[in-house]
Amino acid sequence: MLAYFPEIYPDELLYSVLGRLMCHSGILSNIHFLVDSFGNRRICVGFFLQTNLGQLAANTPPSRGLTAQRLALETTLLPYLTAYRSQEVRELALAYVTDKSGNRTGFHFRLGLTADNVVRLPSVLRYCATCRTEMLDRYGELYWRRDHQIPGVLVCAIHGTPLADSSVILAQTKSYEIIFADEDNCPADPAPPTWVNHLETVKMLQRIAKCSATLLASPPHARPLTAWREESHLALRSRGLGRGRAGIDQAALKDAFLAHFGPILDILPDAAPGKWLGRITYKQMPPLAPLRHILINLLIESLPQVKVSSPFGPGPWLCRNPLAEHHKQPVITDCEIHKLGGKIIGVFRCPCGYVFSSGLDPGRRPRVLDFGPLFDARLCELVAAGNNRIGTARALHVSPNTVQYHVALLGLETPWKARPVRAKLPKIDREAMRAAWTDGHAAAPDLTRLQLHREIPRVFRWLYKNDHAWLSAQPPVAITRNSNKPRFDWPVIDTAKAERLRQEATRLRAQTPPQQINRVSLDRALGHKRWLGSRLHKLPLCVIALAELTESVDEFRCRRIAWAAAELRKQEGPISVTRLRRFATLGPNCSPEVEAFLRKVASDL
Ligand SMILES: [Zn+2]
Ligand SMILES: [Zn+2]
Repeated sequence: MLAYFPEIYPDELLYSVLGRLMCHSGILSNIHFLVDSFGNRRICVGFFLQTNLGQLAANTPPSRGLTAQRLALETTLLPYLTAYRSQEVRELALAYVTDKSGNRTGFHFRLGLTADNVVRLPSVLRYCATCRTEMLDRYGELYWRRDHQIPGVLVCAIHGTPLADSSVILAQTKSYEIIFADEDNCPADPAPPTWVNHLETVKMLQRIAKCSATLLASPPHARPLTAWREESHLALRSRGLGRGRAGIDQAALKDAFLAHFGPILDILPDAAPGKWLGRITYKQMPPLAPLRHILINLLIESLPQVKVSSPFGPGPWLCRNPLAEHHKQPVITDCEIHKLGGKIIGVFRCPCGYVFSSGLDPGRRPRVLDFGPLFDARLCELVAAGNNRIGTARALHVSPNTVQYHVALLGLETPWKARPVRAKLPKIDREAMRAAWTDGHAAAPDLTRLQLHREIPRVFRWLYKNDHAWLSAQPPVAITRNSNKPRFDWPVIDTAKAERLRQEATRLRAQTPPQQINRVSLDRALGHKRWLGSRLHKLPLCVIALAELTESVDEFRCRRIAWAAAELRKQEGPISVTRLRRFATLGPNCSPEVEAFLRKVASDL
């Protein structure tokens, strides 16, 4: 147990506190000091991170209220190094520095400290000349500040003064050695760097220093790497650096980066755009040094927002997946515009896998095109937990039929009774259909194509619709009409028909009582209905025959009067005009010629 523990100065590094403790306590042996403070002589003293903090905190005076966690978060670079890591990595790292357990290599690997291109920690302890003066004025002694040791920080965040290298070179310091800051290893007038008068450069470096110090003092909430990637991706796209539907224009990104950070690239090699710049928007983004996140954020801040015109308004758009944590949050950047029948349809793809389409009409509900992996996972859970169909549908915000459909798709065993599935008709087999046609032709090779079609209409129809090319190439060959050759021999037909007409006219003329011989009665006598009417232009002989054979109404009436007179004569009764008229069934409206003929016939009798 330590009887004394010095006051921790603002943003002081634990390494510095331990150095001052050793100095104030007058302990000369590092080993003795380690035993007193950590209870272990084999402790490895870290400059920026310290392990076994649990033992150290336990040895501090209880009145100070120093816990291992407080020491880790307030006096080491741990919060900065894990700022852009997941909660899991943060907890692991904290457990490593506070507990005795843990292996150093695994820890460094997880934090990305082993890869040179990820985090390059300083090789010397650094200080600010202005801070040095203030420290001496206020506290009468110097101390190592945390924010002066952050990788990529070259100026004091508070003063903008270039950080100076102390004479404490880390590689030359033993693992148990603790060197406190003093006026010797932190000289008052360090040599200024060459860029000290480049105002733009210093301003840019101070912005980086301020962001780094903020990250160390109050790191953001832990989020998975993909969330950081997503955020940067969206922000870069909204700054006009997008490409295609959801990509990043890497060349434009690099140009913008070089234009913005050009002045500092020579003096801060870690900021140079390398492969990491392309990877910042990868779906599987590898862990990146916090400095690089800071640089990207500064670049994004420096670029103006670009308004992208979309009929659905500026993105990102709200996610409609009720199962996603980001439901109703603007996270969708992928919107495809389609025009269907004059209407504009947007297809929105959310990173959670939910895809839906929506029209511009605000009254219409969006149509889900893909429920995404969250739906399937939740459905499996609900079914496994023994929920019924209705309950499962409610929990998933869909209809019971949709649940049933996805249960069938995933092949899940359900606690509810499966509904009868409609028996499906056996699929029509193309080969069987082809065989039916070929066999039909082989069995009756004399049949024409049309006749075979009439024999097996179902086979013909299926092949005609589904296998047209094959069917066209198959026998029997369709009989095609030669259009140059007339289909009928009209002159022959004309002669025959004219002859028929004469025969029929003779037959009709012999009928009693007499019937009028006109085109209609002749047509009927030939056995057709209106056959002549539409074909007479092809039948000149028939036209002549008709003109000769047909009789007008008056002619027919006269013929009928003559017939009636002959009949009355046979009866040998008195013949009057009235009786003759009635026998000949003449109407009252006969022409004068017919009336004259009637009277003449009556007077002759
Ligand atoms: Zn300073
Ligand atoms: Zn979503």
